[in-house]
This record gives sequence, structure tokens and C-alpha cells, in this order.
Amino acid sequence: MTTDFAATRALFDLPEGVIYLDGNSLGPLPRAAAARVARTVTEEWGQMLITGWNKAGWMELPSRLGNRVGRLIGAEPGAVVLGDTLSIKVYQALASSFEMNPARKVVLSDRGNFPSDLYIAQGLCRTLGPEYQLKTVAPEEVLGALDETVAVMMITEVDYRTGRRHDMAALTARAHEVGALTIWDLAHSAGALPVEVARGGADFAVGCTYKYLNSGPGGPAFIYVAPRHAEVARPALSGWLGHEAPFAFDLDYRPGAGVERMRVGTPPVIQLAALEASLDIWDQVEMADIRVASLALTDRFIAGVEATCPSLTLATPRDHAARGSQVSFRHAEGYAIMQALIARGVVGDFRAPDILRFGFTPLFINGEDVDKAAAIIAEVMAGDLWDRPEYKTRARVT
Ligand SMILES: *Cc1c(COP(=O)(O)O)cnc(C)c1O
Repeated sequence: MTTDFAATRALFDLPEGVIYLDGNSLGPLPRAAAARVARTVTEEWGQMLITGWNKAGWMELPSRLGNRVGRLIGAEPGAVVLGDTLSIKVYQALASSFEMNPARKVVLSDRGNFPSDLYIAQGLCRTLGPEYQLKTVAPEEVLGALDETVAVMMITEVDYRTGRRHDMAALTARAHEVGALTIWDLAHSAGALPVEVARGGADFAVGCTYKYLNSGPGGPAFIYVAPRHAEVARPALSGWLGHEAPFAFDLDYRPGAGVERMRVGTPPVIQLAALEASLDIWDQVEMADIRVASLALTDRFIAGVEATCPSLTLATPRDHAARGSQVSFRHAEGYAIMQALIARGVVGDFRAPDILRFGFTPLFINGEDVDKAAAIIAEVMAGDLWDRPEYKTRARVT
């Protein structure tokens, strides 16, 4: 294990002159991923053709790499599998939860949750029938809203906009007290901070690998099922690769062993190769060390920006325990400001209506980057350098 983050930084291919503060949205390219993907394409796909499924171990990748992601979120061995996208994994966890708690019809979430999670819940409730309902409350009201009507609490641990972190252990304990199941979305937690799904008692957890875990655009999602539920949870998306014996080609579905049943269809082998190269880096670090460095970076960034930019309002909690690994500021002209920053090599992103979002990953961001970024932000704000028409035209992706 290493805490030499100068060494890990050298393992990423970062463009010259860019301070990349958006690894929370799309992690940068691990240098080794390019060669690893090329090998999968030319040597495995190219030369092995269909035999690659056995010879190159493609079929085992979702669970083999799932275990390596599992270490980062405190999962038991054999409790995590990769595949599909996060939205799909949310659907699977939610459908299984409703089935496991059949007397109850409410999924509880909060209004800070990422819309896709809420949309998926709305769609599933519509399919299940009019008595099913998504109930959303303010983030600080979730604990009080847990009652005997709730079948499942579906919460994203770290708010994608503000970086505010929920208390996973406390909410999970309260949910269990009232007989509700829990789904934790770790999209902004996995690779961002230490997570303890097993110790915290989570029933299900889901997340993506293309954010902090650097699997590249479109990289697969992961799902965790607590071992106590692994033989009980039944997948609603019951595809052939979650079947007990896919190559028996039975006409009837029988769930596979444990978390394997949460697989749906053919795994994205090329993307998994990129993830494998990234996990070679993640395997060398402890999340506790990442956390110490991340809090130092986010503290330093908050102090630097607040010292020079009074018109930017901090949206991220100052309290360490309540903070993820990103810092967000509010400003009515946030979109234009972010475009001006990107034009000057400070890459973050914008989230409507007014959030400037900056992610910090100690693996490739250091204190010097933070100071440089803060200085550029100060310059842009002091001179109103964002106030130009070309920074105000919204692109499709913000
Ligand atoms: C990024 C993110 C998603 C994205 O879902 P995809 O299906 O991978 O596009 C969903 N939920 C949360 C909480 C996210 O942060």
C-alpha cells in the first residue's frame, strides 16, 4: 500500500496545462488502460475471437473485478458484481427490495438525489401499480420520515450537487428499526471516501465506475447485495447471465448463486479491461489514506476560494463528517464562470441551477494544483472574465 500520491499521479495521462477537477464526473485515463484495452482488442478479441470468453476469462471479469471494487466499499468477498449502468442497477435493487418487503408500497428518497434514481423509482412504481409510491423529503428529513410504511429507503450517500454526505450507519440503523430495507447509491462515494457497506448493514448498494474509479466513459456499474439477502433477492431483470446455468439454455429462469444473479446480459469486456487497469492503481491504496488527503485538499480549496471570491457562496458542508470529496459553490452565473475556467485549464462542471462543482482526487490532484486553480478562479471573478457571450451558450452536456 502506498501514500506516495506523486507516484500515483504519474500513473495517469493528464493533458498538459489542465487542472482536472472533474474526476468525480469522469475519472481521467490511467496510462496503463490504453495498452490494456489495446491488448484486449488486438490479442484477445482479435486473435482469440469467441474462445476469449474462456481463454481470456471474459466471463469471470464482472465478479473478479467486482471483488476488487468491493474492497473499496467495505464489502464481503463475493458480494459485488459489475455490469450495465447505474440506472439499471438502481432498478434491480429497488425491484428486489419491494419483492422482499411485500406488505409495504413506499420507497423513500430525498430531493437531493440524482434525478435518474428518482425517475427509475417513478417508472417502477408505475409498473407495479397505483398503490406504489415514491416519497421524497428534504435531505435532512430522511431520518424522521422513516416509518412503518416504508418498504425501502433509497439514498445517495453523497449529494451530486453539494457534496453533502448522509450518515449511512445512522440512517441504515433507523431504517432497519422500522422494518425498511436500504439501498445506498455510492456514485460519489466509491473511490471518494471510505465506505463500510458490510459494517454499516446496507442491504443493497450500487454505484458507477466511470467517476472516481476511472473506467472511462460508459464503464459498467456495480451492485452489492448483502450476503444475508443474496439467495433471497430475486432479480426483476432476469437475464440469461444471471441464470444458474446460462449455457443449459433452459426455458425457465432459475436465479444464479448469490450476487451473480444480478448480472443481466453480456458484459462490456473492453470497458472492463480499462477498469482493470485502473484497479491496479486502486489496489495500491487504502481509502483511509485517500480520505485524509482528500479532506486536506477540499479544506485548502475552500479557504483559497473564500479568501478571494466573496460572490461565490459555499454549498458544501464545512464539517468533515458531512462532506464528500467535492467542493461546490453557488453563483447565478455559474455556467458562464465554469466555461471561463475551463477555457483557462481549470476543469470542473456546472449543475443547474447555480452550482459550480469541483472534484478532488488525491491520486492525481495535489495541493499545488489546488492553489493554482484557486488563483485562476480569483482572476476570473475579480475581472468578470466570464462575462462574455461565448461562455453563456449552453452545451448539451454541462
Ligand atoms: C452519475 C449518477 C448516475 C448515472 O447513472 P448512469 O445509469 O450510469 O448514467 C445515477 N445516479 C447517481 C446518484 C449518479 O451520481
